[in-house]
Amino acid sequence: MADVRPDRMHLPDERLTALLLAYVSGRLSMPETPLDHPGRKAELDEALAGLITADGRDPAQVLALYDERLSRAVLSADSPRFFAFIPAAPSKAALLFDMVVSAASLQGISWLEAAGAVAAENQVLRWLADAAGLPLTAGGTFVSGGSAANLSALAVARDEGRRRLGDAGARVRVAVSDQAHSSIHNALHLLDMGALVVATTDHRLSGAALRAALDSDREPATVVAVVATAGTTNAGIVDDLRGVAEVAQQHQLWFHVDGAYGGAGLLAPSVRPLFDGIEQADSFVVDPHKWLFAPFDCAALLYRDPQLARRVHTQDASYLDVIHEQPEEWNPTDYAYHLTRRARGLPLWFSLVVNGTDAYRDAVEATLALTREVAREIDLADQLTLLREPTLGVVLFRREGWDAADYDRWSGELLAEQTAFVTSTTWEGETVGRLVFLHPGTTLEMVREVLAATA
Ligand SMILES: *Cc1c(COP(=O)(O)O)cnc(C)c1O
Repeated sequence: MADVRPDRMHLPDERLTALLLAYVSGRLSMPETPLDHPGRKAELDEALAGLITADGRDPAQVLALYDERLSRAVLSADSPRFFAFIPAAPSKAALLFDMVVSAASLQGISWLEAAGAVAAENQVLRWLADAAGLPLTAGGTFVSGGSAANLSALAVARDEGRRRLGDAGARVRVAVSDQAHSSIHNALHLLDMGALVVATTDHRLSGAALRAALDSDREPATVVAVVATAGTTNAGIVDDLRGVAEVAQQHQLWFHVDGAYGGAGLLAPSVRPLFDGIEQADSFVVDPHKWLFAPFDCAALLYRDPQLARRVHTQDASYLDVIHEQPEEWNPTDYAYHLTRRARGLPLWFSLVVNGTDAYRDAVEATLALTREVAREIDLADQLTLLREPTLGVVLFRREGWDAADYDRWSGELLAEQTAFVTSTTWEGETVGRLVFLHPGTTLEMVREVLAATA
């Protein structure tokens, strides 16, 4: 063993570097990323069997195996033909800068360790806060996703509510609409908070409905927060943020806005008025890995008063005292449930600075314009019924005469042909077609192929 160096993994390796950079370069040069296919467990198990050895393997062989066997069993969320769930569409600048973050092992825990990264991330958070109209005191951090952001924000809402009630162990609840994202329910469960579920009219939470729910509740004082959704995941509906904000203020509720998907709409003048009232939010979440063209995984979490979040999330350990010595220095780790964190806001920062804010506005507006055109096409097709005028980039429609099995067949065939990835959803108890647009490279022609397949 004497001739084998323990630092052999850490030595510069030109061949390895060239190999991987060539792969990345090839991927980034594709005019359109291929959709690829669902995986089969037996085939993947076979590809991976015995791969990990004591001595390692030739990287070119392993990369080839990844490329040919593994990567083809990953559906490309960044394909302009991916219309299911919520797709992704990271800009080239953001994707490339993500590699810089990796290559430099950039973390973003504390000011002491990573001031340069933290300052740049905070510049992006400020830009988002300005888009929402939050005060200059607002601030927060980037976390892995909307789920982590919602959990972190609601923990602060809970503790603030309990503080106001003067009972640190009080059982408290959060008002949520029946359309709130599943992560909200998970967060409430983890935080041991109950839900006051507010019924919606037209799937949109209104101030009036919230007020009525509180008025008819037996213990309204135990409700300490309300969650409004700025862009529901299933249908892209923006709640009545102004109305909800007003009731929240009257009842001293923490006002949390979940804009994980739809928050990007703040940048688009054509829909910006729908977000009025968001400037009253106590906490606000938007996922740049959804509609703000950043790579996975990246969620921005903002608090109106970050001080309150710090009280809840700062981890107390003697070896951490040194990062908390200067009160004016921003420590992202203190604003969510995490300690070590990747500086995951930097790819967005680089792309935003390089491309400029107009490029972001135009990309979001392009999606909205496409969505409206698709809605017209659906209106014109005899076999299709538009179920709701789209608000953001989600279209719901019915294919007359189809049941769930028909939608599944449609989805399976389109994916097999690599025409598109679509999935159905449930709307008012019925299985329906759902298309989500957020890639500015998606063309009306691509969507027409999907609609034609329902004929
Ligand atoms: C996607 C989404 C979430 C969850 O975000 P993740 O990044 O997937 O954790 C929460 N709320 C809404 C409205 C969403 O669309």
